[in-house]
Amino acid sequence: MLDGPPTETALTLLPSPQPAAATAVPATATPQLEATSEPTPPSEIPAPPNDPPQFAQDGEIGIADGVVPEGTTVFDSDLPAIANLDPALLHALRQAANDAAENDVVFYVTSGWRSPAYQNQLLQEAIINYGSEAEAARWVASPATSTHVAGLAVDIGPYKALDWLIQHGDNFGLCQIYGNEVWHYEYRPEAIESGCPEMYLDPTHDPRMQP
Ligand SMILES: [Zn+2]
Repeated sequence: MLDGPPTETALTLLPSPQPAAATAVPATATPQLEATSEPTPPSEIPAPPNDPPQFAQDGEIGIADGVVPEGTTVFDSDLPAIANLDPALLHALRQAANDAAENDVVFYVTSGWRSPAYQNQLLQEAIINYGSEAEAARWVASPATSTHVAGLAVDIGPYKALDWLIQHGDNFGLCQIYGNEVWHYEYRPEAIESGCPEMYLDPTHDPRMQP
């Protein structure tokens, strides 16, 4: 039996890195527990983790930096995260998404183009979250090396879409690049003829990620 109130662990996954800059809680604000239980997921398959995880925004980084609202698709041209993608990648994504839609598979974009500032924020958060720069590098690139900042990568979900891409992505030149990031796709036109290249185990094995 629990003999105390539930902890707030889930709400405080991240240590606050900058106590001085921590968001002040207005004195009038009363902490509110979410009244309802967990929302029912649309399917029994859990959504893939975001790449990288989406942390609460602190107000400085927003849509203009490539933050994507929930439900974003490859057709949302008004969002910088989509509009600033490499045209060849975006074209391939839209062709694939149209094809997948015929099988009732919808691609959602969990991350696309990112500004250097957004990428840097994600990197700093990852260093805190993973405990070291070396471990963070397995998941989040620097602004200088990130293929998201270059507009050359998208993160796709949910698993149903990823399943579809595993089976058909190479027909459109869309390839998973890293073994540890099933959601991260880039454009490899040669894949249409010869299949996707062998994946890197993780980004630290990618020569492009070397400082
Ligand atoms: Zn990615």
